[in-house]
Amino acid sequence: MQIIAYGVLADERNYLESAFNEAFEGAHTLRCLELFLDKDTVPIASGYESVLTSVNDTLDAEVLGALAAGGTRLIAQRSTGYNNIDLRAAGDCGLAVSRVSYYSPESVAEFAWALALTVNRRIVRAVIRAREFDFRLDGLMGRDFHSRTAGILGTGKIGTAFARIARGFGMRLLGHDIDKNPECLALGMRYVAPEQLFAESDLISLHVPLLPETHHIVNEDALARMKDDAILVNSSRGGLVDTDALIATLRAGRLDGVGLDVYEEEAAWFHLDKSLEVMTDDALARLMTFNNVVVTSHQAFFTQDAVGQIVAATVQNVRDHLDRRSGPNTLVPARG
Ligand code: NAD
Repeated sequence: MQIIAYGVLADERNYLESAFNEAFEGAHTLRCLELFLDKDTVPIASGYESVLTSVNDTLDAEVLGALAAGGTRLIAQRSTGYNNIDLRAAGDCGLAVSRVSYYSPESVAEFAWALALTVNRRIVRAVIRAREFDFRLDGLMGRDFHSRTAGILGTGKIGTAFARIARGFGMRLLGHDIDKNPECLALGMRYVAPEQLFAESDLISLHVPLLPETHHIVNEDALARMKDDAILVNSSRGGLVDTDALIATLRAGRLDGVGLDVYEEEAAWFHLDKSLEVMTDDALARLMTFNNVVVTSHQAFFTQDAVGQIVAATVQNVRDHLDRRSGPNTLVPARG
């Protein structure tokens, strides 16, 4: 079988190539591409039975139809989230779809904390100043997280890992989820409605998946409820936050700061070198101009541990497909 991987990051490539070589001993060949999958790049996948994808690939009905017509049978997504895949269209085309349902939640939770601390303690400004030998402290004052309130939206694997760290800081924990998580309750979390979480939290961290119900869950109304000096961190999916409403809030001088590892329109920018091009995304450009906003390029998952686990699970998903097995990572089973 021939396997093709889209959107492969430079540091990920070695992991993928050695894991597939080791698992299949050359019986199935893997081709790695840096290009993202979309309607322009889909012809390259013609003849490849398995296509390995990632968050910023586009798998809409048109692309999925082209893949199926080219002989693809399996889409193996190398991430937990799969909001970029039209699962119904995949099923209609006879494409099986798998994902990686579990890998180090700490990778993302620790990064969300890195953003929270970077924003709160003005680390970017401090580092830039120190480089210029400007060692004044003006404008660098932050706050203790200890004794303040962390509001965690989504208390699944990553939200719970975030809560454990928040507990270590000695924070009061508020949570919102459709299911109460016993581990979070044991940490002392109080489950409240989203409105109360937004209103009472000093630090708000988003860990729900992007679904129609959670799209723009942080909208004008939610932002208006937040404390003027709240810190907002989004390491889940860009579509959870209404970017225009966030910009209007920041322009009004509200919020202490924002850490974003994800952005609604990130597919056109993140993981790519766009440094020599004209920045045509006005909202992203505007976000970058706020000195209390830190933007990173969807890198929260990017640890040796998490990438190793993602690659191992993807190998297993391809193996399961070959053996005609479905498992906990199956989103759309193979036909027949
Ligand atoms: P998870 O499934 O363990 O947890 C998600 C939680 O959200 C669950 O407890 C679920 O009950 C809750 N939830 C679902 N719909 C909800 C709703 N409408 N209202 C309230 N709660 C709701 O998932 P996880 O592993 O913790 O991952 C969370 C998200 O993090 C993923 O969906 C993905 O979007 C994002 N993520 C980002 C990165 C990154 O690198 N930035 C990496 C991995 C995952």
